[in-house]
Amino acid sequence: MSYSQRIFELATLEYQRRREKAHREQEQRHSEAVAKLPRLIELGREMSETGLAASVAIAMGADAQKQIAALAEKNLAAQKERRDLLRSAGYPDDFLEPRYHCDLCEDMGVVDGIFCQCREALLRSIAFSQLSELSPVEDSTFENFDLTFYPNNQDPETGLIPRDRMKEIYDYCLAYAKDFDTDSPSLFMHGKTGLGKTHLSLAIAGYVVNKGFGVIYGSAQNLLTKLEREKFSRNTYSHSQANTEESLLDCDLLVLDDLGAEFSTAFTVAAVYNIINTRISRGLPVIISTNLTPEELEEKYTQRITSRIIGNYTSLRFHGRDIRQLKKRR
Ligand SMILES: [Zn+2]
Repeated sequence: MSYSQRIFELATLEYQRRREKAHREQEQRHSEAVAKLPRLIELGREMSETGLAASVAIAMGADAQKQIAALAEKNLAAQKERRDLLRSAGYPDDFLEPRYHCDLCEDMGVVDGIFCQCREALLRSIAFSQLSELSPVEDSTFENFDLTFYPNNQDPETGLIPRDRMKEIYDYCLAYAKDFDTDSPSLFMHGKTGLGKTHLSLAIAGYVVNKGFGVIYGSAQNLLTKLEREKFSRNTYSHSQANTEESLLDCDLLVLDDLGAEFSTAFTVAAVYNIINTRISRGLPVIISTNLTPEELEEKYTQRITSRIIGNYTSLRFHGRDIRQLKKRR
């Protein structure tokens, strides 16, 4: 995948942030342990002094063999004592070591002058997050999804109890997020406005992002507008832009929220078909949510598209009445 200069810059900043975080947390753990076990300070000094003296001795040459061995022994003894102390206080052996996101490059992005294998994943996730409308602190989570907003009595129209039905959908979505992998099924969430489709699709997206997958979440309208703008300005901007189309086709999970709310044109119909079809052929999951019935969607997006969705996606139909008014009143 090709990336813009901006994405490379953001990756450099992200590595810096990760390293700083690892070191800050290491210092916090150190302060905590030292407060309980003051002897750790002395041991730490001994370890660095013997280490330093050993490197000086090594630089002096072969005559220093005996000295080096003695220093090494002293250093190992200090290490052992430190480990025993930590264990006695219930800390893991590596409690005082920095904990990096990537142990290979220690969050430098480079190992022995070569880009680390973690870098491509980072560039990808930054490219996707640039397109996504997920904010870092997302307030639509599984924890704050409130089933008590859904009526607990039979709906005369459908004969279903909305709360029971929503509990099933909620459980399904939570399990989906927990088990998510790039071969997970695609989901088609449909039902009237204000029944929690956006909340649950955001909850899944947030959960899956935290598992380390590359997710693009956006309203169909915004993503299609970006795609269209980029397509028609390609000649003027070329490589300075993130490649929206490539990202939409390639990310681990694509969430198209509120499909059908956008103004449909020959361009959007072709683009939606391309996204749905390509991702089916690549075996990559999509979550589509829409307020339209399958019939209304077909009217807007042709039978060719809806039959691909109905034939290949797991359908989740949301029942009940708009709960947004109830939420406001509480
Ligand atoms: Zn790495």
